[in-house]
Amino acid sequence: MLNELIINRQGWECQTGQETIIHNEHADKPREKCGVFAIYNYKGPGNAAIITYLGLLALQHRGQESAGMAYCGPNGIEVIKNMGLVENVFSRQKLTAITSDTVLGHVRYSTTGSSSLTNAQPLVARSFDRSGIALAHNGNLTNTRRLHNALLEEGHIFHSTSDTEIILTYLFKYRRNDLIQAVEKTIKKIEGAYAAVAFDGKRLVAFRDPNGFRPLVIGRHGQSYIISSETAAFDTVGATFLREVEPGEIIEINSNGLHSQMTSPSECKSLCIFEYVYFARPDSIIDGSNVHLVRKKVGALLGKRIKTELDMVVPSPDSGVSAAIGMAEMLNVPLQWAIYRNPYLGRTFIEPTQSGRELAVRLKFNPIAEVIKGKKIAVVDDSLVRGTTARILTEMLKRLGAAEVHLCIASPPYKNPCYYGIDIPVAEELAALGPDFKKMASLIGADSLTFSEPDDLYQAVGKNSCNYCTACFSGEYPGYGK
Ligand code: SF4
Repeated sequence: MLNELIINRQGWECQTGQETIIHNEHADKPREKCGVFAIYNYKGPGNAAIITYLGLLALQHRGQESAGMAYCGPNGIEVIKNMGLVENVFSRQKLTAITSDTVLGHVRYSTTGSSSLTNAQPLVARSFDRSGIALAHNGNLTNTRRLHNALLEEGHIFHSTSDTEIILTYLFKYRRNDLIQAVEKTIKKIEGAYAAVAFDGKRLVAFRDPNGFRPLVIGRHGQSYIISSETAAFDTVGATFLREVEPGEIIEINSNGLHSQMTSPSECKSLCIFEYVYFARPDSIIDGSNVHLVRKKVGALLGKRIKTELDMVVPSPDSGVSAAIGMAEMLNVPLQWAIYRNPYLGRTFIEPTQSGRELAVRLKFNPIAEVIKGKKIAVVDDSLVRGTTARILTEMLKRLGAAEVHLCIASPPYKNPCYYGIDIPVAEELAALGPDFKKMASLIGADSLTFSEPDDLYQAVGKNSCNYCTACFSGEYPGYGK
């Protein structure tokens, strides 16, 4: 079974030979696949499309490659989507022209399926009678190839190379008059991670896989319901957070209100623990815990592992801020803003080579020499992937006069690939060193390197490992064992 997972991660579009996966060439961070935002029957000021636009802006960190909205138009379900950031895809003119009071939105970053307009979501399937289904999905199926082949055998044609189209094809195949029944039948077929919302023009249906890998939450805005990947989007649009969509739950929102039914949830939840470490916004609440406070606690627990005397704790901006605050408080050492991060960098056309990555880091960060000169500093970041950023930052800090640089990572080291919707750039050089953190530190040029232990994360979220997917550092893939 694990072999099938491995094949799937490499992308099933490889079978067609037509497109190439555009992976995380420059990234030195894992990347979330997608964000979903939908509002039903909005009657307040502005319109549903403007609320969805604001919601998608709040979720932009979950996907920056494409954005889209599906809604009810004169010809049934229509969709506007394009490559780029939310603000580039939607003009005021486009938004005000959407009169539908129910809108389904999506921001995407590709993990399975290439970065192309055909894979941008929401995906829509239409019939000759103008009925249709729109689908927005966050996650990654793990039985994609098998289902793709089975559907091809049945004569279905695919337009995209995204696993989301497999879910949509099943929904459309089973739809008849009832989207709920179609969802029930579809989730018996699909495996892996999915936090998804479907819209057929009359109702929104949200459904989450039995493990609950990716978050999905319900909010209220006046008389309207909202479904979102994160609660931060509710704050942005002035909505109230009601509750999570539970793992294995199907939520239907129609003109009679909200209806829930459970399928068969797993005995153990498997929420991705890296939602807390890195992916989610610090102002979001995930599974009952505020993300910033969890990160801060992880930082404090990491601080207990630091044996060196320090002059200051410096966050790697902005990803290490919460953990650095926790560590500085724990160690009673000043927290210093000592690395400037250029906030105006858009997409840069730099070759995905090592020297290109280095240039990208130098464009992004610049330490403040006057703050760090002669100081023993702990630089705190949330994760260590390729190590490019850490190495270049360390080199810059030392060149500018830092006496010692101790690298502190508020998560355990990545050891294994993710098959549930996260793109983790491979860290061959670092991974090859295994648990030899001394050698890792010397490769990076740091005086020491300290990682959080898995127990720090469980302690910070206040639950045991059974509630989370930890596969990328533990190797225990939910449902598959080691
Ligand atoms: S393998 Fe890692 S990144 Fe992927 S879902 Fe599990 S914890 Fe999250």
